[in-house]
Amino acid sequence: MSKRDYLLLFSIGPVQSFIAAARKTEDLWAGSYLLSFLVEKAIDKLEETVSENGGDLELIYPVKLKGADKAYGSMVASYPNRFLSLVSTDSEKLPAICETLADFIYGQFEEMCLFGLEDAFRMRGNGDSLMRDLTTHQARELLEVFWAVEPIESGDYEGARKNVESRLAAIKNNRTFSLQPQDGIVCTVCGEREALHETLYGENDSVGKMRSELRRTWSKLSGKYRSKEERDEAFDGTAFYTGRIRENEALCGVCLGKRALRDYMSERGKRSIHGFRSTVEISAPLNYYAIFTMDGDDMGRWLAGKEGRFSEDPGTIGFHRLISEKLAKFSGEAVPRRVLEAGGELVYAGGDDVLCFVPVPGLFQLINNLRLDFQNSEHGLHPEATASAGVVIVHKQYPLSSALNHARAMASRAKQYKHPVTGKSKDALGVAVFTRSGVINDFVVPWMLAGPFVTDSLDNVPTLMEHLVGLMKDDLSSSFIEKLGEAFLPLIGSDTKREVKIKLAEDPAESTKALSVEMNRLLGRSLIDRESQFASKLPEYADYLAKVHDVMGSGHEFLNWLQALRALARLLKENKEVQSDEAGTNAN
Ligand SMILES: [Zn+2]
Repeated sequence: MSKRDYLLLFSIGPVQSFIAAARKTEDLWAGSYLLSFLVEKAIDKLEETVSENGGDLELIYPVKLKGADKAYGSMVASYPNRFLSLVSTDSEKLPAICETLADFIYGQFEEMCLFGLEDAFRMRGNGDSLMRDLTTHQARELLEVFWAVEPIESGDYEGARKNVESRLAAIKNNRTFSLQPQDGIVCTVCGEREALHETLYGENDSVGKMRSELRRTWSKLSGKYRSKEERDEAFDGTAFYTGRIRENEALCGVCLGKRALRDYMSERGKRSIHGFRSTVEISAPLNYYAIFTMDGDDMGRWLAGKEGRFSEDPGTIGFHRLISEKLAKFSGEAVPRRVLEAGGELVYAGGDDVLCFVPVPGLFQLINNLRLDFQNSEHGLHPEATASAGVVIVHKQYPLSSALNHARAMASRAKQYKHPVTGKSKDALGVAVFTRSGVINDFVVPWMLAGPFVTDSLDNVPTLMEHLVGLMKDDLSSSFIEKLGEAFLPLIGSDTKREVKIKLAEDPAESTKALSVEMNRLLGRSLIDRESQFASKLPEYADYLAKVHDVMGSGHEFLNWLQALRALARLLKENKEVQSDEAGTNAN
């Protein structure tokens, strides 16, 4: 027997199922963290197993975090859901190594879910075997562990990497779905798996009878999970406090495992984890918060060495490890630092992917800072690298899963963006602002109107937006948008689905110029105080407004954009008034 070099690619999922089922922010964090933790444990176990079998292992992607992990606490889910390694071993041993690892991952996940059951119901020994059986079954049904191996032939690393990727994709596509009929009552979090119950339902049990059995089971929940630890609010704004598991909740074994995850991590993972802040807490005092999601553009091309220049040659292991290290620095150091500075909560930062909750006031700056870090040559990917993002700004009581879906949808619209002036694709920002009356104002803008990425210029759209929100908040009359609508709707029609631009002249450059003149006139008429410091700046803002219209899909999207800015201005203004009221009360 002789050793050979193999590439081994493992993936643990399904990611969407792990994080989609979320009734509160902690569910979302726990789903991401659980996956990241499984990957971290799996990498350790793989190293151990290969070494026990007399082989060698080199991890290619991701690289393991050391100091970074400690600097920003252990709460960040920082491992992507797949890992690639170079294994040097006897070929006969490889299948057993992979199967050992897969068994380990399933076992680990099952243990985490069973911990939740035992902790929440204070179970000892093997009692309540029905709930244990259900939990084990649900954990094993959900988890998908796939792997693919590929020998490296005559040193062709890049060829082997491509093959192992497509092999894994083929295995995933051919998986069989086992749809199990659910006869019980489903979990209040995921709505998919059966909620845990202590005794078997009878074959002819009515829904009412099953519900009372569920209530009986969940009334036995331990005090730790009931004690009122989290602030929430009713729709009329009155505060109340709820336990980690609410009175009307009945969970499946997987969702329960997630709710217990912070205790599992403290007790068995030896990590200190605190409760994740709720949307109510992140929104205070504005009552609105933002979800921000970003990922690198064209990552496949970067990994294949088709973009940028690095110190290592494309197509080599050294090249891939270098990219892995850069992404680990970005997600493990830069991102947690920025989110912390902005007062946000980081759900996930692995590789080029980021998902976080952010208070509205620091949002634009955070957006710019993360984009800036991503192209930093020290703690990001590369100066030429770009990223696209999705943002949603919603009321604290807006359903979380739905808000997340909107954020993802806006991110994918940003990925489809093409800059009409530069012709560049992606490198854009999709934003949706939900106003109190339920209106959605959404739009896609490029990060830059023109030129390379810089943050301290009005060509940077988030910076321009911050300026305009400030202007609308204090210096423009609230009828500005109505005046704009009166001026332009006759030109583009009231059908918001129509993708027509505001056209004031046949020649595009002339039209932009005319739009700027018109904008300047409308801004001037809406200025509350004509002596204001902004008066002299209006022609410049008017120019930028016309430029933004140029790079947008339609005139309606442009009006949406301005309406979204006005909604943000109102939000911040109300907050300012609330705060000065409070200051006044305190002074008395
Ligand atoms: Zn569930």
